[in-house]
Amino acid sequence: MNIHEYQAKEILGSFDIPVPRGRVTVTADQAERAAKMLGGHCVVKAQIYAGGRGKAGGVKVAHHPEQAHEIAKELFGKRLVTHQTGPEGLKVRRILIEETVEVGREYYLSITLDRQTSRYCLIASSEGGVNIEEVAETAPEKIHTLTIDPYTGLRSYQARGVALKLGLSGSIAEDCVQLILNLYRCCLEKDCSLLEINPLVVTKAGWLLALDAKINFDDNAIFRHWEYHEMQDYSQMDPLEISASKFDLAYIKLGGNIGCMVNGAGLAMATLDVLKENSGEPANFLDVGGGATREKVAEAFKIILQDKDVEAVFVNIFGGIMRCDVIAQGIIEAASEVDCHLPIVVRMDGSQVEEGKKLLTESGLNVQCSDFLGDGAKRIVAMMQSEA
Ligand code: GDP
Ligand code: MN
Repeated sequence: MNIHEYQAKEILGSFDIPVPRGRVTVTADQAERAAKMLGGHCVVKAQIYAGGRGKAGGVKVAHHPEQAHEIAKELFGKRLVTHQTGPEGLKVRRILIEETVEVGREYYLSITLDRQTSRYCLIASSEGGVNIEEVAETAPEKIHTLTIDPYTGLRSYQARGVALKLGLSGSIAEDCVQLILNLYRCCLEKDCSLLEINPLVVTKAGWLLALDAKINFDDNAIFRHWEYHEMQDYSQMDPLEISASKFDLAYIKLGGNIGCMVNGAGLAMATLDVLKENSGEPANFLDVGGGATREKVAEAFKIILQDKDVEAVFVNIFGGIMRCDVIAQGIIEAASEVDCHLPIVVRMDGSQVEEGKKLLTESGLNVQCSDFLGDGAKRIVAMMQSEA
């Protein structure tokens, strides 16, 4: 789960990590008032669920409140396209107004879950800022990583080692040790899958400050944090992902034109692979999970059909716990409700499979049943070709 920069900074602040003073605003008038409050000179920062804003014109310095008003007015409602958003961009609805800071040097600091080691990994570089991706490619030796042992946790000597590698010394290095330890504490307490400060700066006056902040929460831990639901900005998310999460379904958008409904993540991966092997391109996949009801299957199917890129639907379900006739009913209910004539292939197995197939073949839908995954994939591709 994603949150905005201003929310991430509030959290960092609560862990004693220094952040600039600022205010989040939703109108240009508010932005101007916030600028006045900060003494006129300020940074105007578009809040979207993506990075790369600096290079895309989403971070600008204003020299007086009227200018903050002007910049904010231009940004509000605009779709900001950065290298992380895709060509549609993301709409700016909130703007953070912050005090300006005289930057001495920019650093990069993050803690993220490393799936390879299943551990938190600290990443630090003295070459932080908007070009960090470039540094990773051209000068990887300037990026330091440290895998954190969950049993011992992050020790202060390790944090000191990182601060020294960044080239810091004296009291700034000691401030950095505290900051790193606080960052790790924040990661654990808030169940973050990513906590990134880029840039972390040393100001000309010699203070450490998190100038930008990005937090991702681990979706599997959200149940432990009732407050996270309130923090989510649905305007920044794919509407189909939102409806899927309401029904506790996992929906992932992909680039092709075949909608896929599956049960279980492993089966989803296998389905995508076999589709691709047969020259099919998945538009998405929707995992209905283990014990889905007819209603849930129907909702899932409707969500798939709402994806504008979907030209055919491939269902691959192993009805171990779920009954195949219930799945068939869900599909028929959803397809007739939205008057769907797209080609559908259903590959399912499990209890009541014959009843399920009978329901489908007698439904009047443009549907074929298949007993095997490879055969099913071939069929959906063939059905699409014959329609074209
Ligand atoms: P991102 O491009 O989405 O990562 O947005 P950032 O919040 O990192 O802002 C981009 C860049 O703007 C930073 O790397 C800084 O160089 C610059 N920036 C942001 N705030 C300030 C500020 O208060 N003073 C100065 N001098 N630069 C700033
Ligand atoms: Mn940044």
